[in-house]
Amino acid sequence: MALLNNNLSRFSSRLLGTGRNLLATTNGKRAVGTTGRRDGEPSTEAVEEVISFRPSTSQAPTMMDIGTRSIFNEDHDIFRTSVRKFFNEEVVPHHGKWEKEGQISRECWMKAGEQGLLGTDTPAECGGIGGDFKDASIIMEEQSYVNCSGPGFALHSQIVMPYITHYGTKEQIDRLIPDMVAGKKIGAIAMTEPGAGSDLQGIRTNARKDGDDWILNGSKTFITNGYMSDVVVVVAVTNPNAKSAAHGISLFLVEEGMEGFRKGRKLEKMGMKAQDTSELFFEDVRMPASALLGKEGHGFYYLMNELPQERLLIGIMSNANCEWQFEETRAYLRSRKAFGKTLSNLQTIQHKLAELKTEICVARAFTDQCIDLHAVGKLDGGMASMNKYWMSDLQNRIAYQCVQLHGGWGYMWEYPIAKSYVDAKVQTIYGGSNEIMKELISRQIVADKRV
Ligand SMILES: Cc1cc2nc3c(=O)[nH]c(=O)nc-3n(C[C@H](O)[C@H](O)[C@H](O)COP(=O)(O)OP(=O)(O)OC[C@H]3O[C@@H](n4cnc5c(N)ncnc54)[C@H](O)[C@@H]3O)c2cc1C
Repeated sequence: MALLNNNLSRFSSRLLGTGRNLLATTNGKRAVGTTGRRDGEPSTEAVEEVISFRPSTSQAPTMMDIGTRSIFNEDHDIFRTSVRKFFNEEVVPHHGKWEKEGQISRECWMKAGEQGLLGTDTPAECGGIGGDFKDASIIMEEQSYVNCSGPGFALHSQIVMPYITHYGTKEQIDRLIPDMVAGKKIGAIAMTEPGAGSDLQGIRTNARKDGDDWILNGSKTFITNGYMSDVVVVVAVTNPNAKSAAHGISLFLVEEGMEGFRKGRKLEKMGMKAQDTSELFFEDVRMPASALLGKEGHGFYYLMNELPQERLLIGIMSNANCEWQFEETRAYLRSRKAFGKTLSNLQTIQHKLAELKTEICVARAFTDQCIDLHAVGKLDGGMASMNKYWMSDLQNRIAYQCVQLHGGWGYMWEYPIAKSYVDAKVQTIYGGSNEIMKELISRQIVADKRV
């Protein structure tokens, strides 16, 4: 709770615009030496410039260093330090056990809630923490930096909660958001069905009106957080005769305990073994009128609005995990001996590391640009798709090479790089496959009148 209070006061101090100025005044000229003016005194501009200088990822001693990247500031560094501590203390020690159980613990959700790590960028007036998207991206990056894919926090906070806060009624927001922020209620979103994934307009789950109520029937699969979910945003057909399939789709809030709502098995996956992924079944689920999320028939439009953020989240986590893969591999190569030296002394190995580092740092520049734009509401769908496609492909390419650089040990589950290799695969598939990303990017290219 102390940390939550700490984070809350940090967010409010940032809103008041005090944090950064205070630091600049405190550090003053001591931070800069004697650059700038002929009399040896630093000019005001030089002071400003040096104080605000933050090394880029490529300039920092390691790619995961705190205090780097110009899109962040000192407030973010303080927050990042506390998030890093949380993942190292509350997630890393338990992850192996959770991998065997196929889910993380409820306790971990509650602890994340206590520390302000759920709904961090959800507006305070909706019951959220009131931070911004950069704060949220720090949590995603830090999760990738410990290489623990179990917690479905980003899906809960940055995918499910925005549907409720953007399209929900006051009653829905008040009833669900505070509990979701506290980690008492876990959120999921159910679009995919056994027969329809990429082609969402082909879904069959349907809801029909019965008086004021709705009756829901159908099934969903591959649902992240599904097994533990307390509230699920379910995509269903409400008008099979609409002028297009997209016009006949609505969203519903289905809650644990509704009669006829059943969870299937936790699916056995190639990777992401601590993240619960489940089937959901709806058999004549009677829902009150208040279960409809937003307007009837607007579901597809809401999905199109929200999916770009989902894609950026995947890109952010992929890019950060590339950085983790690189550092993990660098450390391994510095310690592993062969031919009388460490492997990192071999020139071919050094050149390989140079290639990997260059690729990751180039990617980092684009991801930071996307985070910066999204934080002010200016990222477009095309860029989000480019980010998701490029970063998830990169994560797989880097993972492949890092496993190779680990030799046989890289193939062993006890070596985290093996886990990262299998976890990476799904990043190119979910959130819209990378083939669909190219479809979306190219649509924007040919729709542009200047082409
Ligand atoms: C671990 C995991 C977690 C998931 N979590 C969720 C979740 O929380 N909620 C949810 O709703 N869904 C979730 N999904 C589902 C995921 O979003 C879908 O698997 C994905 O959208 C692809 O759909 P599909 O599996 O039906 O593949 P298909 O649509 O059958 O595609 C098969 C192949 O064909 C390609 N393809 C399809 N259409 C085209 C096209 N027009 N042009 C070119 N190529 C095409 C695809 O790219 C893919 O390579 C999850 C999936 C996994 C594996």
